[in-house]
Amino acid sequence: METVRQAFEEHVMHTYARFPVVFERGEGCYLEDSEGRRYLDFVAGIATCALGHAHPVLGAAIAEQARTLIHVSNLYYTRQQGELARWLTDNSVADQVFFCNSGAEANEGAIKLARKYGRTVLGIAEPQIISTHLSFHGRTLATVTATGQPKYQKHFHPLVPGFVHVPYNDFDALRAQVTDATCAVLIEPIQGEGGVMPGDVDFFRKLRRFCSEQRILLILDEVQTGMGRTGKLWGYEHLGIEPDIFTLAKALGGGVPIGALCAKAEFSLFEPGDHASTFGGNPLACAAGLAVCQTLEAEALVENARVRGEQLAAGLKRIAERFGSLVRLSRGRGLMQGLVLVAPRAAEVVRLAMDEGLLLVSAGPEVVRLVPPLIVSAIEIDEALAILEGVLARLPVTVTA
Ligand SMILES: *Cc1c(COP(=O)(O)O)cnc(C)c1O
Repeated sequence: METVRQAFEEHVMHTYARFPVVFERGEGCYLEDSEGRRYLDFVAGIATCALGHAHPVLGAAIAEQARTLIHVSNLYYTRQQGELARWLTDNSVADQVFFCNSGAEANEGAIKLARKYGRTVLGIAEPQIISTHLSFHGRTLATVTATGQPKYQKHFHPLVPGFVHVPYNDFDALRAQVTDATCAVLIEPIQGEGGVMPGDVDFFRKLRRFCSEQRILLILDEVQTGMGRTGKLWGYEHLGIEPDIFTLAKALGGGVPIGALCAKAEFSLFEPGDHASTFGGNPLACAAGLAVCQTLEAEALVENARVRGEQLAAGLKRIAERFGSLVRLSRGRGLMQGLVLVAPRAAEVVRLAMDEGLLLVSAGPEVVRLVPPLIVSAIEIDEALAILEGVLARLPVTVTA
């Protein structure tokens, strides 16, 4: 532990305040640290390890692909990329996919695609994109500009021009910011990092209709909500709408880095030379993606996310009622749930839960987020709820300001 920590202290850039634990292996919904201590993992690599840890199908697919062909670049065809693109388009409203390596990169691609649409289809010289307050779209310059949280932007001005922010779930406020230069709206079906805030169905229906009327692209950031997390394969299915474009990453590779920009045919405007990625969609990452997709189907994991999500939501609701002085409410969809505290004490709850063997992650200062692997069992949900309840019961009532 100490030598690992020292290496980080001296040689890894200090971009994270890490918890004092070194993880060495995992199995299913459990992780084991360097001291042999087990933790129930309701973080899942931040909504990424959909199949949990060391899933045999994913492990075998990666090992087999690694022994055969890892990478050749996008100068050539590879079977795995074609098959993953076919699975994603067969199972969504999209017709074509561009593969990359992360959520930020997928959104970066969506921003470029929206600008090309604005310039070439709508004839806008300087196209503008609308995104929302408390959104999260990534850490590259363009995506951190789209992200509606000044704390992520503060040292990095000048930001990228061409972005406007409006409150989430507020159609009139959004409409008021639309101009002749607006080419797209970029928005999450459920805001994740911003506090697990579900999109309002009525808002999204109005937005969809309005975007179609105005020929504005509706781009959904499904980086966290995609791949079954919410109890449906895509977050947009809860909203009764179809996006023109959506982005994926987190769970797509089950922990192997891969992102995807998915578009309907009429908005799939990139031509050779417009956009690229050296690693994007390489056989190793796509073999992992295919193993995830096949396992979602074979093990009915989207349905599991729905049923276990209902169990988790019901348990959190009970906890919110029992601890009314600490907890304001619970919210979320499927296995993307948040417990909204009365005070900014999410970090405290996360730390205490970790001491009790349960991994949680905050989503802003007041929200404790629960995003377990989609393979989670009823027993594991009950175990997590019991630990969380115990932590809240022992939480000191007052905070010193
Ligand atoms: C995590 C996340 C991103 C950024 O993904 P990275 O892989 O960290 O670049 C973008 N959008 C949403 C909604 C996310 O949750």
